[in-house]
Amino acid sequence: MAQQFNNELNPQIWPDSVRRSDFGELTIGGVGVSSLVKEFGSPLFIFDEAHVRNRARSYASAFNAGQIQTDVYYASKAFLSTKVAKWLVEEGLGIDVCTEGELAVALRAGVKPEKIIFHGNNKSVAELETAVKAGVGRIIVDSLIEIERLNQIAQRNGITVQVLVRLTVGVEAHTHEAISTAHEDQKFGLSIASGAAIDAVERVIAAPGLSLLGLHSHIGSQIFDASGFEIAAHRVIEFAALVREKFDFTVTELNVGGGMGIAYVEDDDPLNVEIMAKAIHDIISTECAAVNFPIPKLAVEPGRAIIGGGAITVYEVGTVKPVDVSDALTRNYISVDGGMSDNIRTALYDAEYTVTIASRESSAVSHISRVVGKHCESGDIVVREANLPSDLVPGDLLAVAATGAYCRAMASNYNYLPKPAVISVNQGKSEVLLRRETLDDLLALDPGI
Ligand code: PLP
Repeated sequence: MAQQFNNELNPQIWPDSVRRSDFGELTIGGVGVSSLVKEFGSPLFIFDEAHVRNRARSYASAFNAGQIQTDVYYASKAFLSTKVAKWLVEEGLGIDVCTEGELAVALRAGVKPEKIIFHGNNKSVAELETAVKAGVGRIIVDSLIEIERLNQIAQRNGITVQVLVRLTVGVEAHTHEAISTAHEDQKFGLSIASGAAIDAVERVIAAPGLSLLGLHSHIGSQIFDASGFEIAAHRVIEFAALVREKFDFTVTELNVGGGMGIAYVEDDDPLNVEIMAKAIHDIISTECAAVNFPIPKLAVEPGRAIIGGGAITVYEVGTVKPVDVSDALTRNYISVDGGMSDNIRTALYDAEYTVTIASRESSAVSHISRVVGKHCESGDIVVREANLPSDLVPGDLLAVAATGAYCRAMASNYNYLPKPAVISVNQGKSEVLLRRETLDDLLALDPGI
C-alpha cells in the first residue's frame, strides 16, 4: 500500500539548524530556503555556520581531552573558502592543503603558515618553493623525488623544512587485515612493505635542508569505526621503532590522517567524535607501550567530518517524468537545475544521499523517485534512491542533505553550467562564501569570443 510522504528530518543527517517552519517550508539558520533561493539563485549550497563551527570545536576538544596532545587540521580539499578557513582557525584547527591554490586561499584567509600542513603526491617545484617561502608548518613528503626536490629548495632558501613521511601501511579502511595489502597498489605514500618507506626516512634524515618530525598515514574515507586506525597505528609505530633501531632517531609526531565518516542516509552509523578520539588515543598508547616507544604528538586531519554534514544543496524541480521500470515499478525521474557538475559523488562513487521537498511539505503519498541533473549523461544522478511526494511539480524546491564535503569542491563546468553560489547562514543572517559563476565568467576564458 502506498505510504504517505514523510516530511520529518533526521537530525543525524541534516545540519543542526534545519527545521520545517509552521508552513512546512525548510529553514536553515533561521531562514527559509525559498527566500534564500530568491536572493541567491538555484542551485544553491547553504552552509549552517554554527553546525560547522560546532563540529570543529568538538574535534579540537575531543582529541585533546585525553593525555595525548593532538593537533586537528581541517582537510580543506573537502571545501574551502576564506570565510570557512577563518571559522575553523577560530575554533582551534589548523589547515591541511594539497595544492598551491588551497594554500593561497588559506594564506589569504590569514591562517598562520605554521598552522598549515602541505600534502600531495605531485607537488610541483613551484608549489614547494611557494610553501617553503611562506613558512608552512609541515610538508608531508610522498616520494623519493620529492625529498630530493624539497631538500634543494630548502637549502636554496636557507630554510630547514619540517617534514613528515607519508607511509603506505597496506590498510584499506573497513577491511580486514587479511586482505588489507590489496591497498599497496595505489599512488599515495611510501610503502613500508616494499622498503620504500625506510629508504625515504634515511634520505630525509640525511638531507641537510630537512628535519624529520614524524610519520603520516591516511587509510581512507567515510570510516565508521576505529579498527582500520588500529591496524595502521600498529604498523606505523612498529615502523617508528624500526627507524629508532636502524638510525638511532626517534620521531616525535604521528599524523593518522582523516577519513572519519558522517551519516548521509538512515543506515549510516559513524562513531561520535568523543568515542573515536578516545579509541584512537587508546590505540596509540597501547601500540607505543608494546614496543616501548615514547608517545608522540598526534595529528588528525578530518575534512568530511567537519564540513560534510553542515550544508545542504537546494535545487529547483524542472520536470517530473514517470518511467516504467517493470510491470510492478514506475519510477519518477525528477530533473533538477544542477546535477553531476555540482555533485559528482553519486556518479563517481555510487554515493547515497537523503533528499526532501524543501519549499513546502506534502501530504501526498510517497513515490519511488530518482533525482537527476540536467547534463547530457544518463549517469547524471544526484540521488539514486529517493522517496519523494507524488505531487511534486516544476518550481518545487528540493534539498539534498550533507553536501558540504566534496561537492562544490569537486564541481565542474560540464555543459557550460556556471558553478552554484555557496552561502552560509547563522541566526537569521546569510552571507556569500563563493558567489555564483556567471556565463560571462566562463566566456571570459575563451579568447575567440
Ligand atoms: N588527509 C588526507 C591525506 C586525505 O587524502 C584526505 C582525503 O582524501 C583527508 C585527509 C580527508 O579525508 P576526509 O574528508 O574523509 O576526512
